[in-house]
Amino acid sequence: MDKIIAVTKSAMPDFEEYVGMLRHLWDTRILTNMGEYHNRFEKELREYLTCNYVSLVCNGHMALELALQALDLPKGSEVITTPFTFISTTHAIVRNGLAPVFCDIREDDCTIDADKIEALITDKTSAILPVHVYGNICDVEKIEAIAGKYHLKVLYDGAHAFGETYKGRNIATFGDATIFSFHATKVFHTLEGGAVCSQSRKIYDKLYDLKNFGIRSEELVAEVGANAKMNEFSAAMGICNLKDIERLISDRKTVYGYYEKHLWKKGSHSMEEDTICRPWRNSDITYNYGYFPIIFKGRDGAVRRDASYEKLRTEGIFARKYFYPISTKQECYRKLYGKSNTPIAEDISRRVLALPLYGELSEEDVRKIAGLI
Ligand SMILES: *Cc1c(COP(=O)(O)O)cnc(C)c1O
Repeated sequence: MDKIIAVTKSAMPDFEEYVGMLRHLWDTRILTNMGEYHNRFEKELREYLTCNYVSLVCNGHMALELALQALDLPKGSEVITTPFTFISTTHAIVRNGLAPVFCDIREDDCTIDADKIEALITDKTSAILPVHVYGNICDVEKIEAIAGKYHLKVLYDGAHAFGETYKGRNIATFGDATIFSFHATKVFHTLEGGAVCSQSRKIYDKLYDLKNFGIRSEELVAEVGANAKMNEFSAAMGICNLKDIERLISDRKTVYGYYEKHLWKKGSHSMEEDTICRPWRNSDITYNYGYFPIIFKGRDGAVRRDASYEKLRTEGIFARKYFYPISTKQECYRKLYGKSNTPIAEDISRRVLALPLYGELSEEDVRKIAGLI
């Protein structure tokens, strides 16, 4: 095997530029605790995301955990969410002492099915936690109308959707808060890192306490906080990568185009005609081209998905079964939530395969992958 193609490859900024920024850290020896780069990066993100408050944290998971905590939901209350996500979303709810209630997803774009949310609302429901899966934006209008009607909080897991807009509005500005992950494998990264975006000073202040032990001053601890600060090396990486964000996204778009060219029959984009399809494209969304999931259609879809996954592996190409198994079927949740009624999420999880996608992937590689499938 001459080379290996992983599902993604971290984008790196210009080496000299990043190292140049590190010089300052050697001089000041201020490596963390809301240093100069942290504050500059926070400000640059606020501008880029057109969002009033951005709280930087050490990773996307802590962004979810602390954002949920900052929303101050009653202990033991229910949070309606999707099982078709990275396990972090579910863990964040459970680790906050809240009860996840699983809503099924839409077949066309794999996001939570807003038409099925109301039936799951009880007098214990306190919030909705939807995920913009693969960068497909949830039905934010319907979700927020339901939240308004029943006085529920909304926290979006935007880990897949950094940089995207919906009807011209940055997705960081929807709901009570939106979180992002800046993990090395995401479209935009800070090595490890994350952020909580909101329009609320109260949430921002609460998060500041929660990510820094609740320390307000040298002799005053006002809250039972955790430690989830972003360090200066990550913030510097964020500043460098944010400068490149438009190029990072457009390079991915080019590769996305290669897949469309080589994977689909000429002139065909229809799900009906193809035996494989990808979640639809919505013209209201500007995508970040983070993922290229395909869904194997037909009765033998699950079998062909697994066969394609194995076939690619033997050629050194590592696609991923995102998201299989769904949260409710994982070992740690099976007993509690395994009987949740989400047949579409379960079905799609058996038929979906996320193909390698990153800016440097060549058309030749994409042609090979498409050929193998
Ligand atoms: C990556 C991811 C997270 C967790 O982010 P980390 O930075 O890895 O902690 C949460 N939710 C989703 C949907 C993700 O893809």
